Amino acid sequence: MAKGGLRYGAGRPGWHGKVEHCRSIDVRRFQRENMLKPGSWSWQWRDAETQEVVSSIGIIGAATHMILSYATEGVNIREHIDITRTPCKLGGSRAWFRCPRCHGRVAKLHLRGGRFACRQCQRLTYSSQSEDLIGRLWRQQAKIEAKLARNWQRPKHMHQSTFERLRQRLWDLESAREDAFADFVGRLGLIL
Ligand SMILES: [Zn+2]
Repeated sequence: MAKGGLRYGAGRPGWHGKVEHCRSIDVRRFQRENMLKPGSWSWQWRDAETQEVVSSIGIIGAATHMILSYATEGVNIREHIDITRTPCKLGGSRAWFRCPRCHGRVAKLHLRGGRFACRQCQRLTYSSQSEDLIGRLWRQQAKIEAKLARNWQRPKHMHQSTFERLRQRLWDLESAREDAFADFVGRLGLIL
């Protein structure tokens, strides 16, 4: 994990930050911790080596959104993040954040410049090959999603069997992408 002294873009035009240098929140993690419901929590980031808490945010939860509150450079910020859901393979649903900037559906939001937003909006890149693989998987997923109705629902004209095949493909792509990401994160020895 990068330690102090990293200055984004300082004197380096065109240089993009890397995902691994940013604080982020992951909706899958929040779902596992049962935080996507009414309540209030605090979320902390720890240094990968020393395990010391390096920063934290307050979260006020609800079923359909969460309010993040935190201070950055002495300014208190409250950010409203919408939560949306898609159906899961084994029943139930999977949660996503809506990026507050582009309203895209994403698993993770990254803190940069005092605000949370998706990787694209924050202009963050992954390292090398993982980025290529993950990008490819996303593009395949986007093509299939374009054939389906909103939130992975079956369009009226589509046969049930076609729909089930496409949705299965989405789940496969999703787990392949998560594996690629876990692999990439693992190689960097990060704690997320
Ligand atoms: Zn975005």
